[in-house]
Amino acid sequence: MMIEMPQDVRFIIGELNKKGFEAYAVGGCVRDSILGRTPNDWDITTSATPFEVKNIFRRTVDTGLQHGTVTVLIKDQGYEVTTYRIDGEYTDHRRPDEVTFTRELSEDLLRRDFTINAMAYNDETGIVDLYGGIQDLEEGVIRCVGNPDDRFDEDALRIMRAVRFAAQLGFSVDSATREAAAKHAPELSQVSAERIETELTKLLISDHPEKVVDMYELGITSIILPEFDKMMETEQNSPYHMYDVGRHTVEVIKNVPPTKVMRYAALLHDIGKPQCKTTDDKGVDHFKGHAMVSEEMSSKILKRLRMDNDTIRDVKKIVRWHDYGISGVITKKSVRKMLSSMGEQYFGEYLDIKRADMKGQSDYRLAERQEVLSNIIRFHDEIMEEGNALSIKDLAVNGKDIMDLGIPKGPKVGETLSYLLERVLEEPTLNEKSKLEDIIKGL
Ligand code: ATP
Ligand code: MG
Repeated sequence: MMIEMPQDVRFIIGELNKKGFEAYAVGGCVRDSILGRTPNDWDITTSATPFEVKNIFRRTVDTGLQHGTVTVLIKDQGYEVTTYRIDGEYTDHRRPDEVTFTRELSEDLLRRDFTINAMAYNDETGIVDLYGGIQDLEEGVIRCVGNPDDRFDEDALRIMRAVRFAAQLGFSVDSATREAAAKHAPELSQVSAERIETELTKLLISDHPEKVVDMYELGITSIILPEFDKMMETEQNSPYHMYDVGRHTVEVIKNVPPTKVMRYAALLHDIGKPQCKTTDDKGVDHFKGHAMVSEEMSSKILKRLRMDNDTIRDVKKIVRWHDYGISGVITKKSVRKMLSSMGEQYFGEYLDIKRADMKGQSDYRLAERQEVLSNIIRFHDEIMEEGNALSIKDLAVNGKDIMDLGIPKGPKVGETLSYLLERVLEEPTLNEKSKLEDIIKGL
């Protein structure tokens, strides 16, 4: 089988060959090429030592010399070139105590996590598949190279990687690999939050985010996200629901667009429900105030995962507002206030989660809920069309105007602007300079 390699990759392999070294494209790019998917990046493995690689190419970066990795720069593109290596003992379930370089490709492939990730390719040799990677690709199986028990003992992150690849590729995890994953899951507590977040994010934005349930079954979430286990164990005895909180959450994750923000918002939108649950005397469950609790919990969880601040901010917004429109009378005024508090820029995300949320509910009074949502959309569109003020910067007066009317510089200015916004949200026609000045004069 031939794989179409980018020109730069052929060039790097060719230059290494000219100096008498072996070199191959390896890992994810070989796997994805065989599957007809577009590789994220092209990694190269070689018999040359980092020092030898640096001598051959004009522009290189020392990415991880102790692990044998040099980045070769071609135009503005970087390619990781890593020396064949054998990983030493893993005493911390995370990374090898030491790595040694080797001139044997087979030894390098042996240290890799899964058979489908342990294949190498160059145009001369073709595919090197020593551990049954092609067969596992054909059968849709994630299987460790070698003894899964040892492989997960070495690096517990591989447990999450197994489920992540299953989710990206729509594969299943081989039973021996699964069994070992469940056994070693507790060791994930020793893996850094950053590495865990990377794998969880890749799983969530994949085509099969429902595999998060595999993470639950394997005991992974009980270590990295015990709050999720609580959702899986919380029934919802309510005519509006047909799933427990966990299965409902999985439905919502599947039904929002596959972006990081939306998938985390879906994962966390009901995370506060277990602790908000009350049961009335008819036996019906209620979850009053759960959106607010979910927002607080989302913040804590995402910080724990070392998530970037922009994502945390956006997820919190969506979680906080996902339940708006579920009860109470919706008027144009209430939608205006909602848009002002939430930020109109989140309205699209609000609709995304709302629609997905409904898909994860029962049909009970569904038409009614859909009608409420279409009213919200109609009011939103009118508000935008009319250009109603939604924030202080939309007001017809600014801080300077207010000070010119005798309000002293300081917190009073901001308070006055907030008060004016409140009035204008109630009655948009007040947003004219003279009318607002009259209000200030009357204070
Ligand atoms: P992606 O599409 O996410 O980039 P990938 O397979 O390229 O998938 P990387 O994390 O980029 O995954 O790693 C590149 C290769 O390095 C893998 O294909 C695998 O051979 C090896 N590898 C990466 N992480 C590990 C690990 N924790 N244990 C063993 N081998 C690993
Ligand atoms: Mg990769």
